[in-house]
Amino acid sequence: MSKFIYNFSEGNKDMRDLLGGKGANLAEMTHLGLPVPHGFTITTEACHAYQRTLSLSSDLLTQLDASIAQLSQETGKQFDSHDNTLLISVRSGAAISMPGMMDTILNIGLNDQTVKALAQTTNNERFAYDSYRRLLAMFGNVVYGLDEAAFDQVLTDIKRKNGYASDLELTAEDLKQVVTEFKEIYQTSDKGNFPQDPKTQLLAAINAVFESWNNHRAQVYRKQNHISENLGTGVNVQEMVFGNAGENSGTGVAFTRNPATGEKALFGEYLLNAQGEDVVSGVRTPQDVGVLKTEMPALYDQLAETAEKLETHYQDMQDLEFTIEKGKMFLLQARDGKRTAYAAVKIAVDQVNEGLITKKQALLRIEPDAISAMLHPEFDKEALAAHQILTTGLPASPGAATGQVYFTAADAKQASEAGHPVVLLRQDTSPEDIDGMIVSQAIVTSRGGMTSHAAVVSRGMGATGVVGAHELNVDYQAKEAKVKQQIIHEGDWVSVNGTTGDLYLGQIKTTEVTVKGDLSVLLEWAKEYSRMGVYTNADTPKDFQKALDYDADGIGLTRTEHMFFKPERLVQMRRLILAEDAEGRKDPLAKLLQMQQGDFYELYKLAEHKEVTIRLLDPPLHEFLPHDEKEVAEVSEQTGISTSKIKERVSSLKELNPMLGHRGDRLAVTFPDIYEMQVQAIMTAALKLANEGLKVAPHIMIPLTDSKIEMAWVRELVVNQIDQATKAAGVTLDYTVGTMMEMPRACVTADQVAEESDFFSFGTNDLTQLTFGYSRDDVGSFMPEYIKKGLLPADPFQTVDTEGVGALMKIAIDKGRQTKPQLPIGVCGEVGGDPASIEFFEQIGVTYVSCSPYRVPVARLAAAQAHLRQAGAETPALAAKTA
Ligand code: PEP
Ligand code: MG
Repeated sequence: MSKFIYNFSEGNKDMRDLLGGKGANLAEMTHLGLPVPHGFTITTEACHAYQRTLSLSSDLLTQLDASIAQLSQETGKQFDSHDNTLLISVRSGAAISMPGMMDTILNIGLNDQTVKALAQTTNNERFAYDSYRRLLAMFGNVVYGLDEAAFDQVLTDIKRKNGYASDLELTAEDLKQVVTEFKEIYQTSDKGNFPQDPKTQLLAAINAVFESWNNHRAQVYRKQNHISENLGTGVNVQEMVFGNAGENSGTGVAFTRNPATGEKALFGEYLLNAQGEDVVSGVRTPQDVGVLKTEMPALYDQLAETAEKLETHYQDMQDLEFTIEKGKMFLLQARDGKRTAYAAVKIAVDQVNEGLITKKQALLRIEPDAISAMLHPEFDKEALAAHQILTTGLPASPGAATGQVYFTAADAKQASEAGHPVVLLRQDTSPEDIDGMIVSQAIVTSRGGMTSHAAVVSRGMGATGVVGAHELNVDYQAKEAKVKQQIIHEGDWVSVNGTTGDLYLGQIKTTEVTVKGDLSVLLEWAKEYSRMGVYTNADTPKDFQKALDYDADGIGLTRTEHMFFKPERLVQMRRLILAEDAEGRKDPLAKLLQMQQGDFYELYKLAEHKEVTIRLLDPPLHEFLPHDEKEVAEVSEQTGISTSKIKERVSSLKELNPMLGHRGDRLAVTFPDIYEMQVQAIMTAALKLANEGLKVAPHIMIPLTDSKIEMAWVRELVVNQIDQATKAAGVTLDYTVGTMMEMPRACVTADQVAEESDFFSFGTNDLTQLTFGYSRDDVGSFMPEYIKKGLLPADPFQTVDTEGVGALMKIAIDKGRQTKPQLPIGVCGEVGGDPASIEFFEQIGVTYVSCSPYRVPVARLAAAQAHLRQAGAETPALAAKTA
């Protein structure tokens, strides 16, 4: 018989796959001697068994009886006893934390009889009925699927009738009335009466937690966070401790460090006389945990001590749930705390400096994609100064965002699908709102604190978040929010500052941010611990400067054709393409030479001694040609060529499939003077800088190469130009001439191609296009269906297809290095900045990746992680990509 249940004394933190994160940590804390209420965990294997049969197995039921008996012994209380009632909680807990996504049911064991017994033994009737009404609402909603709003309405009505502002004012008599009305909700439903038998309640609750693994919001959350569908959830069954047992009781959550800023200080919130859900749901605005220091100093000290102990034990920032029952503290949960990217980096760097973790641990702890959130824009200071703050809430998740207001998740989702940037504005959020939250630039609530659902989720997603902006009066019916005399309607523009908590009307311009402080420290460590270089794709000095600010190692790809789209250059480019012969190309080439020289000079100068790899022209020619009558007329005016001549030339250059047509080095074969001009421009710039004292080694890259013989032909053309230039100047310069690897044919003949190449750089955009036979500009019409139907694990233009494209890359690398063992190998297609792809490139021995400037920090961290994860594996210590 499989063992489906583990008492907390039997588990430990390393059993999260079997016990779920919550169960494993409750067991660990029990071993650490911390005050954890007694209990046990039903395993994720039991959840799998349930998912197969949709029922609780007889083995599980037998073990459950034994575990309840043991729990009775440990607590000295009896299930269903009238004078010494054992009340329990049932909570979900998967191996990877999914906050609020699955279900919890508290106060199980209460019924019409035991509630009286509880009132008597505690001498607190209000508390007993408060607990019972909570069970009725939670059980009704979670187990029977009764509408939560129906229960809320009863509470709202009774409070309104008595003029109460808060739940706390409800008397015992009121709560008895609430219980009666809650039971009526059951009776009028098709589910029948609330089950009075505690065992029936318990089994139904366990069932419901297993069912909740597959609820819609949990599925959406798993998809969003790439959590496997196969993990399943554990179920934790635990003796209840009561935070609602009076004014010397309470419940709260605490982080061992500030999850928004990373500051090292106990951070959290609590509510007196409340049960757990009250804090998280935001129905009452909680107190800062600092207030506990004055309200209950001894308990605050105990909490601070426990926090310290747990953080040292787990070597990471912890998120704790605690309950105080009549002055005694209990711990109900510890887990690695969710945090903003900003806090994650600060905490990791601080913990290294404190000696708690190593640099390697710090590097492996940060999600590479999360740091791109830190590079998000801030509001432009001048633009901000021209706006009045409308209202201010709590700064739940930093960042600056502008968008149009929507009040429901469904409306937000719809607006986002229609292409609008969205700000979701609500009283509070609940896990049901996940669809709308995912698509929002910012999330704003009028209620709740820094640990409310809206705050936790916005931080986790890297969305800007402001919560508890209590001046906002949200009217869902009218789809508007009122603040002071101002009304915000659905669709109105607002701007949200998640760092200060301020809200503004209208759109405010944002500015770029740069890497600084802890992030630059972390990225330096990343550089220290990575093998691969991280270069950038940059076509302009501005892009390059951005990448240099992010500490790029150099330029891995300059697409020179992108330099020709400015109007004054486009004219010359068009004259060049429209010319009928070499003679006609002379003048536009001379003009382009002037311009290109300046371009290259700027890039080399910025680079100082870093490498700059310039790719010679690779334009599908059609991109430069006029497409309609109006454009033809314009070009005719600009170039002095007649419209009929232009049309004739355009039609003769027309290609059915330009991406597979007259582009790349095929242009060099038909129009050698274009590549000659570009090499001259490179050499003029390099020689000019040499004169000024900066020795530049040009790295010239040939696109679209198919074969050794083709590469040899183009190489000779390039080298001739270089030789002519150096001879004329009477100097020598180091240089390299390499090839893009974009054609499957080049990959499988890479041993030959390498004879003529000083380096390879994979153009995975074209290589993927040609390996799959997917036109890279047309995949939008079918790719989403392929991913949805599971026919592709991911878009191969964004994450390398290791089995197909990756296999070709491996063949090319192995063959290339048979010919030249030290052959430098780069990747400059889109996947060069993708962490999962970088992991693969580390394995196959790529020398460097090159990506857009904004991806450089992400790629740097991913490269370090890939190398650290492979540490111990045989990785060739390759020389950097230098000539
Ligand atoms: C590529 O094909 O991956 C590449 C970098 O070149 P381009 O995108 O300019 O074709
Ligand atoms: Mg390409």
